[in-house]
Amino acid sequence: MVMRGVGYIYIDEVKNIRSLFLYDEKVIESIVKALGGDIDSILTSITKPPAGLYMRVNLLRASREMVIDMIEREGYRAYSDAVLDEAIYIPIEGPYKVTLRDKVVVADKRASESVMMGSNLYAPGVISCGDVRKGDDVTVVSENGIILANGKALMDCKDAMRIKRGIFVEVLESLYRAAPLRELSVWREGLVYPQSLPSMVASKLLNPEAHEVIIDMCAAPGGKTGHLIELSKGMATIYAIDHSASRIQEMMEHLERLGHMGRAAILRLDARYLSKDLTHVRPDKIILDPPCSSTGVRPKIWHKFTWKDLESIVRYQRQLLEEASRILKNKGLLVYSTCSITYDENQGLVNEMVNRGIFEVVEPPSWVKKIARISSLGTITFDPRDKHPGFFIAILKKTS
Ligand code: SAM
Repeated sequence: MVMRGVGYIYIDEVKNIRSLFLYDEKVIESIVKALGGDIDSILTSITKPPAGLYMRVNLLRASREMVIDMIEREGYRAYSDAVLDEAIYIPIEGPYKVTLRDKVVVADKRASESVMMGSNLYAPGVISCGDVRKGDDVTVVSENGIILANGKALMDCKDAMRIKRGIFVEVLESLYRAAPLRELSVWREGLVYPQSLPSMVASKLLNPEAHEVIIDMCAAPGGKTGHLIELSKGMATIYAIDHSASRIQEMMEHLERLGHMGRAAILRLDARYLSKDLTHVRPDKIILDPPCSSTGVRPKIWHKFTWKDLESIVRYQRQLLEEASRILKNKGLLVYSTCSITYDENQGLVNEMVNRGIFEVVEPPSWVKKIARISSLGTITFDPRDKHPGFFIAILKKTS
């Protein structure tokens, strides 16, 4: 990995891709066990964005055609997804070459991953900016020296570091270009929700129906909850649970924007103890999208994840799955999903649940084969070397 101060490099010139991923050998083994093939091709795919910026059309308010038309009137090309009726995407353009300037601003990981897609750099995401002055042409690089974008500084470095708010670099050229979705009228009017295709597939597979009782155990920021509301036309009884106040706030803002407030009961609870805290609810179906290693999320400029981290996250996921089995109705359905590509969080944990006799795997409908891999057990894997982010889904049925 190129260290800060030593030099800067283009991501496609990084010789040893594993230097960007600070993964223990056992984490790498877990990824290869899940996906097969060689780790370098998997990690290389993770450094690139998916081919399209996917979004879900809020079919309770608009049709796909109407939304595509509105986006195109604002100057972007948008397309319908061939498999999911509610999905559309705007292609992501790039990679482009960004010529290194004399003055450099170093951004943190989160800001770097937005800036490389064309977002402006906000002051809180700046790690260092030397003697940059307002009006300077600068290059934004990540902490590990990857060249991301060029732009103009809108304030002096010392002011950015002091006030820690507002746009510091207006990005004019970036490695990739994604449409600024939040600036489009379809966003303001609550007609779309940005969501990867695999994530939409998870709610779709739960197939929520009117009058069913459904719990979204890890709901915020509400991507799947909103989708479940749309799929059931607001007729299912949905409990959206999350333990984070700030993420619940974010979920409420999204649901409000989409016109869905009042269509789900939002509860701040620890989902590991729902059988004690939500004793009166016996759901027909549960969606469980727990915290995970996020190893499938792309693009990534670097990532650190240890075997110890993996063991601890699997323990947490197991606890949530066990609690789901306690509250679910007999023979009830659970969709388990993660945006990760390790065997242990996904196939491994599902195998364990099956072997312990808690759940059985339900075979997914045949359309899923068009977009993902289905294992002999019936679990679904999105390989990041294909079009979409890495993702895992299992449809599980409580055995008794
Ligand atoms: N399903 C969401 C969506 O589609 O927008 C994303 C969920 S995110 C992967 C995981 C969420 O789990 C976070 O919002 C986090 O706050 C929540 N979480 C973590 N531990 C939890 C717990 N013990 N109980 C409830 N929520 C929890």
